[in-house]
Amino acid sequence: MVGYPGTILDFEETFSTDEACAAYLFGIRWPDGFVCPRCGCLEWWATRRGLCRCKRCDAQISVTAGTIFEGTRKPLRLWFRAMWYLTDQKQGVSALGLQRALGLGSYHTAWVWMHKLRRAMVRPGRDRLFGVVEVDETFIGGKRHGKCGRGAEGKSLVLVAAQEDGDRIGRIRLCRVPNASRDSLEHAIGQVIEPGSRIRTDDWSGYGRLEGRGYKHEVIRASEAVGENPLPLVNRVTALLKRWLLGTHQGAVRPSHLDYYLDEFTFRFNRRTSRSRGKLFYRLLQNAVLIAPVPAKNIRGHHNHNIEIL
Ligand SMILES: [Zn+2]
Repeated sequence: MVGYPGTILDFEETFSTDEACAAYLFGIRWPDGFVCPRCGCLEWWATRRGLCRCKRCDAQISVTAGTIFEGTRKPLRLWFRAMWYLTDQKQGVSALGLQRALGLGSYHTAWVWMHKLRRAMVRPGRDRLFGVVEVDETFIGGKRHGKCGRGAEGKSLVLVAAQEDGDRIGRIRLCRVPNASRDSLEHAIGQVIEPGSRIRTDDWSGYGRLEGRGYKHEVIRASEAVGENPLPLVNRVTALLKRWLLGTHQGAVRPSHLDYYLDEFTFRFNRRTSRSRGKLFYRLLQNAVLIAPVPAKNIRGHHNHNIEIL
């Protein structure tokens, strides 16, 4: 395994040049040595322009090709700083914060970078929760004084799943669902929770047939014993999520981008006890080389359209 920087000084020294960043990226992308993405050949030469040239098919491959850094005109050094900044700020950052920290001339660039990096916060093929898991849904966004209830306009429904770890919250998963129907909820649960797990929910009928889906199901009703908080783990996660969206993003979350914010929150939450910021940075970089590049034009939406978070 490649090491990671422990402190800001470590970071500054290790990644002071683009060549050093590229070499580090190389070690993360090809831990057992270069593999030609075209033909699978392991033999290569380094070209004068810093590319890997395959000995068999003659392809010239840049270490950033096929990663979220592909085609960037900005120095890798700056990307590394953006990622360090992102992982170093415990509460998350806004595009404006990133623009200021890096001295980027354009707010739009900062905004596009944030969205690219958020994609790298989801580990492709990441594993599902298991054991005892609390599940509930919550509405995010919409007009403050809008009508409430299912399908309320401008609001997004999010399934919150929180794994029990003794008397603490273990890992979480957040998943946007189109509605609170049984089909939607069961589909989302199948994506985020391992069959065989014990799932605790309220008595909403949408959760009524989880036993038939390979789960053990426990319905928790509000009672004197549990008070007003029958599902304390998911309620806590939901409260933290809403506070985080309000505090870090001033509630400025467009529904079409909500998935990325949910991923960022999940990434931070599941690593909240990790003392090493450097390890977080390393994980982010590991994902970044696995994610296919996204052209900026495919990150849709106008960034100054805001919605309120309830
Ligand atoms: Zn090749």
